[in-house]
Amino acid sequence: MSSPSDWVARDLAHVWHPCTQMKDHETVPMIPLRSGSGVWLEDHTGKRYLDGISSWWVNLFGHANPRINAAVVEQLGRLEHAIFAGFTHEPAITLAEELVRLAPAGLNRCFFADNGSAAIEVAVKMSFHYWRNRGRPRKTRFITLSNSYHGETLGALAVGNVELYKSIYRPLLMDVITVPSPDAFGRETGASEADHARRMFTHMEAALEQNHGEVAAVIVEPLVQCAGGMRMYDPVYLQLLREACDRFDVQLIADEIAVGFGRTGTMFACEQARIRPDYLCLSKGLTGGYLPLSVVLTTDTVYDAFYDEYTKLNAFLHSHSYTGNALACAAANATLAIFREEPVLERNRTLAARMAASVEHLREHPHVAEIRQRGMILAIELMKDVANRTPWPFSERRGLRIYRLALDRGALIRPLGTTVYFMPPYVIEPDEIDALARVATEGIESACA
Ligand SMILES: *Cc1c(COP(=O)(O)O)cnc(C)c1O
Repeated sequence: MSSPSDWVARDLAHVWHPCTQMKDHETVPMIPLRSGSGVWLEDHTGKRYLDGISSWWVNLFGHANPRINAAVVEQLGRLEHAIFAGFTHEPAITLAEELVRLAPAGLNRCFFADNGSAAIEVAVKMSFHYWRNRGRPRKTRFITLSNSYHGETLGALAVGNVELYKSIYRPLLMDVITVPSPDAFGRETGASEADHARRMFTHMEAALEQNHGEVAAVIVEPLVQCAGGMRMYDPVYLQLLREACDRFDVQLIADEIAVGFGRTGTMFACEQARIRPDYLCLSKGLTGGYLPLSVVLTTDTVYDAFYDEYTKLNAFLHSHSYTGNALACAAANATLAIFREEPVLERNRTLAARMAASVEHLREHPHVAEIRQRGMILAIELMKDVANRTPWPFSERRGLRIYRLALDRGALIRPLGTTVYFMPPYVIEPDEIDALARVATEGIESACA
């Protein structure tokens, strides 16, 4: 057994980390964790970090949550995992029932997968296949919004639009129709977010009008484009989109992988537009941040288009080895039980107000171009020149300075470029929000200097 102080060297000898230029670790510290509790992560020296981004947006009720721990341990003693074709188990059945109860009415069918990108692949394939089964084989294309993000596997990457992750792989990707995002950051001064969303919708309307004969579905992240820099837009866009999709006979895929489970103030972001998508993709917070699991909810209409004699070969022959993993389902059921039994959304309203108040002093900062918020997501957009909307050159890596300073001060804040954001677990305390804001302020001061 080596001492924890060797962990970094052992890690760097063999482990290749996600979304990382590994050479950065010649100067940026790699932090070996030994434990987590609530909003805190603890490293091998005992130093603690306030997890301000819910460990990449997955954690809802804290690390080592006693209730979720107990549920996973209990399930572990019964059944860890089993093939999910031809077999089922109580955790998956209960989870499907509960998801159907929570989701917009009419999403009665749950298809499980094991991560967010896989859920997007499922929705994309299902929509394409739905139209084939319905005798409309020309409907093969997808419409997406600029600056959208739907994951890293090739299909998910193709329907996403964050250049940093996508451009290099373009030769491998299917062609999609990209429509300008309703992102409210782009609105003219004086225009309301709703007016801006309505105006931007004309692009979507035109794309649907022109291409609907060959479009299977439109895919969107409802209300917040998270990986695209926490850019936000008005719910009226989703209302117009639902109405137009119905009019043009095109399906709607809502990717709530990041915004689902209370993040934007309602259980699902779609609720704020009072719409029901044809596919609702969920992952991340689904298991409270414990285990990989995802699900695509869809309608009986879609399900029925696949329900046929086997020999017609209309079935959805898609699977992942860990589909419906029992431990992950148990963690998800415990997570949803917390939503049922505690006033989570109500408490989040108070926490969200505290988040807003904690950064109020930054509104007048010369490099703060915007502070925006939807529920438990708050973003501070920094720019070199606010008046002219000039960003800093990406090569200056000013966001990294904030990340490093925050780590030093005991907080995990990981800016997207120079957009600093808070997306904490829902068990954060008001004074911890203030502490996070103090660290962010210090980081912003230092990065803008
Ligand atoms: C994270 C994310 C995904 C991909 O999920 P993974 O589990 O990381 O594959 C897809 N869509 C959105 C909106 C996400 O934020």
